[in-house]
Amino acid sequence: MKTPLPVTFASFTLLLTGACGGSTPAAAPPPPPAEVPAAPPPSASAAPAAPVSAAPADPELAALLHAGLASTTALDVTRSLSDHVGARIVGSPGFERAVRWATGTMNELRLSNVHTEPVTVQRWERGAESAELVGPSPQRLEITTLGNSPATPAGGITAEVVEASSIEALEKLPDEAVKGRIVFFDKPMQRTRDQYGYGHGADVRFQGPAAAAKKGARGVLVRSITSSPERYAHTGAMRTKFKPGSPYEHVKLVPAGAIAVPDAEMLHRLLAEHAKVQVKMLLTPRSPGEAHTFNVVGEIPGASDPQSVVLLGAHLDSWDLGTGAQDDGAGCGIVLAAASLLLQNHVAPARTVRVVLFAGEENGDFGAIEYARAHAAEAPHIVAAVEADEGAGRVFEVHALGEHGATFSALTDALAPLHVEAKADPSKGGSDINELRPLGVPSVDLTQDVERYFDIHHSKNDVMDQIDPEQLAQVATAYALTTDVLARAGATFGRAPAPEAKKP
Ligand SMILES: [Zn+2]
Repeated sequence: MKTPLPVTFASFTLLLTGACGGSTPAAAPPPPPAEVPAAPPPSASAAPAAPVSAAPADPELAALLHAGLASTTALDVTRSLSDHVGARIVGSPGFERAVRWATGTMNELRLSNVHTEPVTVQRWERGAESAELVGPSPQRLEITTLGNSPATPAGGITAEVVEASSIEALEKLPDEAVKGRIVFFDKPMQRTRDQYGYGHGADVRFQGPAAAAKKGARGVLVRSITSSPERYAHTGAMRTKFKPGSPYEHVKLVPAGAIAVPDAEMLHRLLAEHAKVQVKMLLTPRSPGEAHTFNVVGEIPGASDPQSVVLLGAHLDSWDLGTGAQDDGAGCGIVLAAASLLLQNHVAPARTVRVVLFAGEENGDFGAIEYARAHAAEAPHIVAAVEADEGAGRVFEVHALGEHGATFSALTDALAPLHVEAKADPSKGGSDINELRPLGVPSVDLTQDVERYFDIHHSKNDVMDQIDPEQLAQVATAYALTTDVLARAGATFGRAPAPEAKKP
């Protein structure tokens, strides 16, 4: 069946050419003409309402709350990105479609000053990927290449497997037990409501390949970083760049893939039974060098203090296995819907509300790093940054970095009807806005329920059908209320304290 084009396709095309022609000094040359439909304009059709305890006393916030819960804008925008653009790894034609989609959609939603800002990224392309148990019992393993991994030799790598439950456990093994082998990291990820499980589980994917290579391994298999027992492999980046002085600074990286959880369990059982378990892995990714692309930006200009900025961020790129519906299609839908809800409800923020859709978060935070560099002089005027990159589950906590004074109280009062609990421990931010933190930009976390998110995260199952419309509307409403509070004159968290030193 033919998918109908959104009714606004023609207007989008016209608006796109108008808006990208250098409307600000920071604007880059426009991307090529669009053939990508933008998301449809905001719809007011009713979504099932999320639980609300009591409306806020402030009539503007009360109106936003009710409009937000009834709006399907976040869902429509997320669906449009997922269906009309699909997978969009940075540097790919999919990502260039996403840039055109984003400028078009921002115009459809009536954001102002819609423009792109240049970013240079490192490309990485997935190739063929396979792995098999050679012995003791020959069978196929479900594998996917880790992002940024180098390729195996053309004939693959066949080697004995050595298991480690963590990087620390690997470090304790003698080098001769690792040299020439395939290191298998078997570190189960805990299912938690917040990011704790992922935060404590994902180090073996980020740094494990470097740690194994340093000890002489030829290849790496990681148990997929997921809370799901399903037989899907979950990709994600491995780190390739380390700070001077890091133990991994001069390590020559080796090919690495993630295997599905049931396959990891089998490998673990076989290793317990047999001294010798052999695996063959063949991965043919390519790293074709640099590409030039864009962050996409749109604003609601501040009515009385336009120099002061409230920044809403999400990342436009996704991994290539699914359609990036949740990671980070939902985040794009949430921040765009939040801005759109303010416009639809005739909220005139005192400060400028700026939506930034970042390029290349997954492979190396390229867009975020470039944004912080290019906007360093403006950073003192960015009063707060809020990122959406936790999928589509409901918001249940709010945290702030900086002073917990009257602004935090106003924020927690505004969010209370959505059953969002105020927390005193500081905001952790997110990978895109954290690049602004050393410049003193405070962040607010609207912590989402990720209990189900990491079942599908970075897998081929990150598709639209996994999104709960009711929870997504609750999240977009929480972002709209937060934006309204932060964009009022006088709202402040002060400046962010200096960040702790990063790990090597
Ligand atoms: Zn993400």
